Amino acid sequence: MRAHRLERSIRRSNRRRGAAPLATLALLLLAGCGDEPSTAVDAGAPDSGTPDAGSQSVDAGTDGGPPACAELFDLEPPGTTPSSAWADVASLDAVFTFDVAAQRTTADVTWTIRTGPSADPIVFDLLQQPAELEVDGATIAGDAIGTATLPGSTPSTIRLLPVSPCSTHVVTARYELAPTPAGATDAPRRVPRFDAEADTVIWAPRMSDQRPGMYLESWLPASLVHDAFESTIRFVVVGGAPHRLFANGEIETSAENDWTVRYPATFRSSSHFWYLAPSEGMRVVERSVGDVAITVVAMPDHTEAIEPLADEVVASIPDFERFLGPYPHPAFLAVITPESYGMEHAGATLTVPRLLRHELMHSWIGRGAYPRRARHNWIDEALVTYYENYVEPRPLGDRPPTRLEGTGWVRGWADDDHYFLGADLFRAWANELGAAPLHQLLREFFVARHGRDYTTEELRTALYCASRSTEILRTFDRHVFGLESPGPAPDCEP
Ligand SMILES: [Zn+2]
Repeated sequence: MRAHRLERSIRRSNRRRGAAPLATLALLLLAGCGDEPSTAVDAGAPDSGTPDAGSQSVDAGTDGGPPACAELFDLEPPGTTPSSAWADVASLDAVFTFDVAAQRTTADVTWTIRTGPSADPIVFDLLQQPAELEVDGATIAGDAIGTATLPGSTPSTIRLLPVSPCSTHVVTARYELAPTPAGATDAPRRVPRFDAEADTVIWAPRMSDQRPGMYLESWLPASLVHDAFESTIRFVVVGGAPHRLFANGEIETSAENDWTVRYPATFRSSSHFWYLAPSEGMRVVERSVGDVAITVVAMPDHTEAIEPLADEVVASIPDFERFLGPYPHPAFLAVITPESYGMEHAGATLTVPRLLRHELMHSWIGRGAYPRRARHNWIDEALVTYYENYVEPRPLGDRPPTRLEGTGWVRGWADDDHYFLGADLFRAWANELGAAPLHQLLREFFVARHGRDYTTEELRTALYCASRSTEILRTFDRHVFGLESPGPAPDCEP
């Protein structure tokens, strides 16, 4: 019954828009998530030697005490070279200073990293180019910072630092934000936009999951998507007209044009969002659903009314909750752009109006519970598309093998099949398992992982063990892993 209510709502919504599900999908794919063209990225090296064991414990050891060195690193993938290892980001404090007169944005960053048992140089991820770093107070010149290329990624801007194993280090850096770091060949980043005449600046991070290196690492030091850490970011506009800041963290205003945002420790590189813009002429609609505060903000070049969009969010949250469990964030912030773009964050989105519901649903799937590796994010797009464009269960039919999941752990991995074929796969599994049991299974799967992460293998096990269906195993392995015949059935708990 719960399912039917959402399903009716989805059909109503599609009718209201005058769009058949496929047309909606076509529109969706014009923009995708993060607006970049859907290009397949070479998946790179396999994830060998790094079992995707339980979700990452952020701060506590298994006995509740401080975590042991090796314990922190059970999710770190191999380094990018035979002799490098990923660092664990423990915390991050950054200040963005927007100098309106000089039209320049500076980042001052202090972050704490923990190193694993390996004595190899550690890796962190930053697509900006500091002239120098300080590590525990000692200066390291920019040209002494090693770089490496992630397999399948084009920018050679992964940083290598020689630091000791099983230790904690404080790193500081200062740099001016640049749209395309030296040596990078991927998509330029959208830097803050200044208006010298009006004394204003406008900026949203404009991330993407369809290109590598387009999450937080675009602007600030981070890690791959598995690494959760607490962070604060201060935003200071110097010499400008009054501005407002919106963000999906807790905002403290210290003075006009000076805010500090505290982002929770569950956030990882795909979670953070902020929007800085001049106050004058700003259009904001505030609503609530229970304890969840809803804020919808129009960017200056979006001229249509945003009240209907706030209504859409208010109506959608209870509907989605019936399918996906309680809304997993304290608030939802939607910044509306007229550009063909939509990107999901944790309880926030920057989006064109037609993708609002899609991006809102990602606050459960993909940004409430997270894909542990970029290669697992086919699940986010497939499942959101399945629910958003719900049609009756149906078998998949004969199709050649495909491979929805990449084999590596690179940054950025999304293509058209994740939306089309991925949604068809969920329809086929609904056909095997029954729509209501499938939806119940998925709800439990995601609720159990709120604030944590999931993998393709965990989904495969959940689907098989609920059904013991060899057909589900066959379609899963054929289209997710590209196997002609299914692999071994997973072990199911008795
Ligand atoms: Zn999406």
